[in-house]
Amino acid sequence: MRNKYKNVPDSKGHFGQYGGRFVPETLMPALIELEKAYKKYTKDKDFLKELKTLQTEFIGRPTPLYFAKNLSEYLDGPKIYLKREDLCHTGAHKINNAIAQALLARRMGKTRIIAETGAGQHGVATATGAAHVGLDCEIFMGSEDIRRQSLNVFRMRLLGAKVIEVTTGSKTLKDAINEALRDWTTNVVNTHYVMGTVFGPHPYPLMVREFQSVIGIEARQQIMQLEKRLPDCLIACVGGGSNSIGLFYAFLKDNIRMIGVEAGGHGIKSGKHAARFAGGSLGIFQGCKSYLLQNRDGNVLGTHSVSAGLDYASVGPEHCYLRDLKKIEYTYATDKEALKAFDLLSKTEGIIPALESAHAVAEGIKLAPSMSKNSIIILNLSGRGDKDVQEVARIKGINL
Ligand SMILES: *Cc1c(COP(=O)(O)O)cnc(C)c1O
Repeated sequence: MRNKYKNVPDSKGHFGQYGGRFVPETLMPALIELEKAYKKYTKDKDFLKELKTLQTEFIGRPTPLYFAKNLSEYLDGPKIYLKREDLCHTGAHKINNAIAQALLARRMGKTRIIAETGAGQHGVATATGAAHVGLDCEIFMGSEDIRRQSLNVFRMRLLGAKVIEVTTGSKTLKDAINEALRDWTTNVVNTHYVMGTVFGPHPYPLMVREFQSVIGIEARQQIMQLEKRLPDCLIACVGGGSNSIGLFYAFLKDNIRMIGVEAGGHGIKSGKHAARFAGGSLGIFQGCKSYLLQNRDGNVLGTHSVSAGLDYASVGPEHCYLRDLKKIEYTYATDKEALKAFDLLSKTEGIIPALESAHAVAEGIKLAPSMSKNSIIILNLSGRGDKDVQEVARIKGINL
């Protein structure tokens, strides 16, 4: 894996023709400083030891690899194992990255971290990391999202973060990103910008992958212990792409089928989806060259998914590269399929998945009939569904 992968990303952050560092000149020093610190501290014994301790004692790692016997029997297909990232502290894999970046920020001598958030999940993870590590934290959020996600806004405030309302443009995620980047440019001396997924300018896609790759490293050891062999197939949902690459990365050297599942929303033809590979084209967005949902003039299109975490116009550059290499296949699940999978996993296993993760479960359901009973699937359960139950009730027309 590391050998074949030795040259990606290159020193400028390119995964083949993807990735890079498309930012204003004023941000370059900050990115170069971050890259240097990342390289230094990820080889630093004390840093790695502190991170490992936090993974164990704060996040609750290793997360279990759980044999979903009931689901496997119900589908009458392969053995399905769930990598239980839903059991991480705060309820999803995002904390793996947020805590590591908070730790790195402190080592860099920063006293403040900032991030933007849409639905609030990355904001909550970042605020949690900041509270634990002891840094000031400011989260940029569009006023429209603040209104829709009041519970997460309150969580962030409980955690000691300041939530800054962004009232420009569409008052949503992309405006919040612009404001956060503006803030970073001004306050770079004392501030670290926490990116939530394997996206943005170099070194973020590399760094976030590295901080999430603990998922696959654990899963590989766990399946070898449980089954004495590697799985036949890995499945994970793809928003920006961090939980999926986190699982897949440790298996890249193996000859294993890997499937990334994007948000099919109301279907590709409807235009209301976030399936960048099915409906997008090459473009530049937020400092990074990748597949992007855009119109002919290069304007970024609005997206839709029942799951906020997959509702994003672009995708991590490494995914584009691995797709070209045919190492990973990409497909999508519609809202309807994800909701069905949400119900099925809840009823068969007693595990309510995040709606994002339900997209991966939906692909498992589709795939199972074509696989033999002695084959093995590992499915990444990126998060728990507690945050989604109100939305699911609303969709079902149930008044809570
Ligand atoms: C944010 C989120 C995702 C999508 O982000 P990736 O970077 O693609 O992993 C998936 N699942 C959950 C539970 C999330 O919170």
